[in-house]
Amino acid sequence: GSTIGILGTGQLGRMLAGAAARLGFDVHTYGPDGAPPAARVAARHTAAAYEDEAALRAFAATVDAATFEFENVPAASVDLVAGLTRAAPDSQVLAVCQDRLAEKRFLSGLGIPVAPHEAVDDADSAERAAIKLGGGILKTRRFGYDGKGQARIASDRDAQAAFSACGEKACILEGLVRFDCEVSQVAARGTDGSVAFYDLSRNDHEDGILRRSTVPAGVPDEVVQGARDATRRVLDALSYVGVLTLEFFWSETDGLIANEIAPRVHNSGHWTHEACLVSQFEQHIRAVAGWPLGDPARHSDAVMENLIGAEAEDWSALAGEAGAALTLYGKVGARPGRKMGHVSRIFPRRPRRGLNAAPKTPKTAEAASQARTKPPPA
Ligand code: ATP
Ligand code: MG
Ligand code: MG
Repeated sequence: GSTIGILGTGQLGRMLAGAAARLGFDVHTYGPDGAPPAARVAARHTAAAYEDEAALRAFAATVDAATFEFENVPAASVDLVAGLTRAAPDSQVLAVCQDRLAEKRFLSGLGIPVAPHEAVDDADSAERAAIKLGGGILKTRRFGYDGKGQARIASDRDAQAAFSACGEKACILEGLVRFDCEVSQVAARGTDGSVAFYDLSRNDHEDGILRRSTVPAGVPDEVVQGARDATRRVLDALSYVGVLTLEFFWSETDGLIANEIAPRVHNSGHWTHEACLVSQFEQHIRAVAGWPLGDPARHSDAVMENLIGAEAEDWSALAGEAGAALTLYGKVGARPGRKMGHVSRIFPRRPRRGLNAAPKTPKTAEAASQARTKPPPA
């Protein structure tokens, strides 16, 4: 068989591996001590493992196509692998996504609105930026996730403390965006340039961590279209191959404001595993392998809830809940703020027609696609 290689051993790699297995691929994951996905998360993402040239070469030699599951893998390592085997996405997206300032400039350059922001390099520039923007959220330019490496600035008096809290690293200060909700667009671009969009997801965060994603998002149609247009521009500008996610703030008064890009499958798209014909994970594997993209149509409404840290110890009740699908990441040792798994609650868009009613089979592919896009009967 054919083998897909994945750089990274977290839960996203684990779920990608499951999708690859479904399509008949073998999977080789690359990480610290060759750990199987998520089995040794504590050892995860040590830079040394991703800069070990001999090990990367050996990895590339065993796979037919390679990808990465986290955006902090060094671009040079992706380039090395890409020189030895088929690889996607291209490393150029990493230069954009590994630096919040570069990311904001890239998005603005495409005409996509972003939050007002200022570069911060020391305590003085933190204070100047805080005065200019009226406070906001100070973020390290590199390596932040799940709200880590961020500090609120309520007034310019907080600037110095916030800069210390961010480890005195290169930062940006973002003005506080007032939004009605946050949404994200998960999309895939294939080797032939075709694009598949998943339905927009509405995302609720708590303490900077994604708590819940809901589809449909319940925003006006033109917002859905606006998110698609912006995401297509990002995908095309990068000649991207694979799944990519664009996060937004949305308000009725200010419209869509892009927050950040994730060059990978995304937590806010986990519901696609149960609610779509072809999940974001399978879609990414298809693109990486050079296959046609699959149908991203959603057959059910969904609410995905993250299981975070210590609260999520007893899984048995969730495992037995009707209409709920449980995914656990196999991490050892819950900590506050650590994502341990998620549960998707699924609501089919068509009412059930009785326990043993045979499904109506559409006669043609066209009829099938109409059946999927027809709104549910009132
Ligand atoms: P992720 O896990 O999504 O990669 P992250 O650590 O990269 O998270 P952000 O997405 O930048 O962090 O911010 C996390 C959350 O904090 C956002 O989803 C939003 O709820 C809030 N937030 C971040 N920046 C702003 C802003 N400028 N204005 C208002 N809220 C913000
Ligand atoms: Mg992020
Ligand atoms: Mg984010």
